[in-house]
Amino acid sequence: MNTSAPLTRLVYVSQATFKPFHTPEGMECHVAEILAISRKNNQQQQLVGALYYGSGNFFQCLEGEKTAVEALYAKLQHDSRHHRLTILHQEPIAQLGFQDWDMKYAMIDQQARDFIKQQGLRKFDPYQFSPKMTHQFLQIMLQNSKDVPATMLQHAIDTPIPEIKPLTPLHYMMMAVLLIIVVFAAIALSSV
Ligand code: FAD
Repeated sequence: MNTSAPLTRLVYVSQATFKPFHTPEGMECHVAEILAISRKNNQQQQLVGALYYGSGNFFQCLEGEKTAVEALYAKLQHDSRHHRLTILHQEPIAQLGFQDWDMKYAMIDQQARDFIKQQGLRKFDPYQFSPKMTHQFLQIMLQNSKDVPATMLQHAIDTPIPEIKPLTPLHYMMMAVLLIIVVFAAIALSSV
């Protein structure tokens, strides 16, 4: 990496737009795909960072040359797998914190749960994070050295995500008819 170029750390949060689908091992399949493409691209762009996904929200830290980080953040805003992107923190850095990770996936569910409890939150909602909480959560991600096992990641990537078809007017009609039958049956039974 050209060390003379200014380095930056950008932390943002976003909300997933997909319906979660986990493998039996517990890896969310959309996240596995995102992780795989991120690792490949970030290596090329000399970007590093970490990602956490919980309760339908993403918390991501991106580090690298300022222009590359900002170009990626601009690209991320067009990815329909998430929305409501909000920057929680950005600072110039002298050295990378996640230097060994093209994109670390923070396997910190228990630590995240403990942290949420300590902070008095009901679920992982990083939109509620104060600057201090953002810093503390980042430290948890930095200190954790556990990565997703390669087999678990590959299994999640290979698992076909079932297509969820929206309900049609016919479905609603059938449900209404069923409901009417149930109501009539209940009335008939109660009058016997
Ligand atoms: P293409 O695959 O050609 O993408 C073209 C467009 O389609 C882009 O706008 C892309 O965002 C969108 N797109 C691609 N695949 C899908 C899909 N399955 N569903 C919906 N839209 C899609 N990429 C990185 O390189 N580094 C990261 O650190 C990184 N972190 C991410 C974190 C999150 C929470 C999310 C949701 C995505 C992240 N991505 C990351 C993925 C990134 O948004 C792009 O999809 C990826 O970089 C490939 O984009 P592309 O334009 O090169 O390629």
